[in-house]
Amino acid sequence: MTTLADVLSVAEDLWPASGAEAWDAVGLVAGDPAQPVRRVVLAVDAVADTVSEALDARADLLLTHHPLLLRGVTSVAETTYKGSVISRLIRGGCALLACHTNADVVEDGTSGVLAQRLRLRGATPIVPSADSPTRGLGRVGDLPEPVELGVLARELAGILPSTATGIRVAGDYRRVVSRVALCGGAGDSLLAHPAVTASDAYITSDLRHHPASESLEQTLVRGSGPALIDTSHWASEWLWLDAAAQALRRELPGVEVVVSELRTDPWSFAIVQ
Ligand SMILES: [Zn+2]
Repeated sequence: MTTLADVLSVAEDLWPASGAEAWDAVGLVAGDPAQPVRRVVLAVDAVADTVSEALDARADLLLTHHPLLLRGVTSVAETTYKGSVISRLIRGGCALLACHTNADVVEDGTSGVLAQRLRLRGATPIVPSADSPTRGLGRVGDLPEPVELGVLARELAGILPSTATGIRVAGDYRRVVSRVALCGGAGDSLLAHPAVTASDAYITSDLRHHPASESLEQTLVRGSGPALIDTSHWASEWLWLDAAAQALRRELPGVEVVVSELRTDPWSFAIVQ
């Protein structure tokens, strides 16, 4: 019988906690390492819907990308979102495990998977880990052949699950793009990185007015710089769940691993003017 401790051991091999950012809170959030695990549900977020899905499926473990308890809480009362989520999981006998930035940096992490889907050649981390040149934040590489920016954005739309806000682009539709930098999830901290500014396009999520505007203005002054492609945060990270599920199935035969299809992107619809 596979136990939660067995799953934690495999998770540590796949996504070592040492790879997590200092501010992150990865690892087991709730659950007894001795409890058996027969079924695992994978999701980006631990929210009411994904918890219901895990409990309805009689899952023993909900593995999420985002840590439910990233910052301190003073209560798990069920009148709060986080208290409700954690209490329902505990009552239902379902453990909760977060694999976040430790799963971002590995070869088959959030950015690595997106780079693979875009068939980037020679993809390397934008910020390599101190202990491994093949691990680290973001990826930068070359498309198999140069394409127009608009074509790249459309290809991305076909790769990512659909969301209400779709894909936003800053740049000329017909600009020819060859070198692409990307970072799954919120990657505005890398906008000024030399590997990003030397690229033709930068794909990431949650780009706000000021960071995006400043990047574009700096490109004007410099005379070169990337077009910006802004995707749904949830969509870019949801892609990783499939790779994570495949790895878990390989390492834990006998455990059923299910990827949640629920869209936990917060936006419901957009009006295009
Ligand atoms: Zn994220």
